[in-house]
Amino acid sequence: MSGLPATMRAARFDAASKKLSVETVPVPAPGRGEVVVKVAACGICHSDLTQLDGHFTPKLPVITPGHETAGTVAAVGEGVSFWSPGDRVVVAAGRPCGTCRECRHGGGIDSCEKLEIMAFDYDGAWAEYLVTPAMTLVGVPEHVPLEQAAVLADAVSTPYGAVGTAGLRPAEAVGIWGLGGLGTHLVQLARICGASPIVALDPLPAARERALGLGADFALDPLDEATPDKLAEITAGHGLDVAFDCVGRGASVTQADRALGHRGRLVLVGMSPDQLDLGAELNFVRRRHSVVGHLGYRMKHLSDLVELVARGRLDVSGSVSAILPLEEAAEGVRRLREHDGDPIRILLRP
Ligand SMILES: [Zn+2]
Ligand SMILES: [Zn+2]
Repeated sequence: MSGLPATMRAARFDAASKKLSVETVPVPAPGRGEVVVKVAACGICHSDLTQLDGHFTPKLPVITPGHETAGTVAAVGEGVSFWSPGDRVVVAAGRPCGTCRECRHGGGIDSCEKLEIMAFDYDGAWAEYLVTPAMTLVGVPEHVPLEQAAVLADAVSTPYGAVGTAGLRPAEAVGIWGLGGLGTHLVQLARICGASPIVALDPLPAARERALGLGADFALDPLDEATPDKLAEITAGHGLDVAFDCVGRGASVTQADRALGHRGRLVLVGMSPDQLDLGAELNFVRRRHSVVGHLGYRMKHLSDLVELVARGRLDVSGSVSAILPLEEAAEGVRRLREHDGDPIRILLRP
């Protein structure tokens, strides 16, 4: 009836054995208010590695990874009036729980207290098809490649949300630790926001070089002993207004925190199980520092980014480092894990 095939290929991760394999599984059917999307491409993200390494236990014992995707609408469920088969869409990487206080009050995806994360709480998009609530979709204009739209759904939208969390304003001094998928886009977004100066930090020379090309004013090696002094010098001794940590390791968070100036804000975007050392409590009080964790983005952020890319304000064409067939999911994971080719985003294409 829906015109969908009965089966599809999908990468499946078994949390108990930590095995990732590409298998033939049933194509999901759209429930009420849901849409089935034919996946055009899906990114491989560091948070996928965190799950594959066993640091996060998925809600399902066997789950399809991948939470950064775009494609075309293949089938719509009952009660879906806005979307039709063939529509080009980018898919938000989370869905509302439907039962929390905010959801009961009609808050939905942007305010849900227990937002379910695609590929962690329900099946993701390293697959030919994906089922998702209609409210998680944003339309993509014909001239924006779906591979670029896919990257927006986390690697660009999460830093875009983090810029909002930081309350970043023009002429503020910004440091960005970690120049992978998130940090590289933060450099571009900080530039759009008018931050100045923008200091990019990463141990990899190629990543630093790339950041300079995308709008960073300075690029430093965080492992260089002289880096704290250089940060002070760049900001004329005032320190940074905003530090974004996209690494999540204890050492980088500590360095980012120490580089903050008066009323400095540290925004934690990267993820790891590391313990944090934020130094003496009185530094936070006397220097009015704040530290805040950031995860995800709002639907408006995703549509903002489609607008910025569609109008040529934001160029993410360089963000698609490689596109591999879905069957080579494990090879894509290896390349990201080993920084092989210094990827911003490796995408899987079913
Ligand atoms: Zn991600
Ligand atoms: Zn909820």
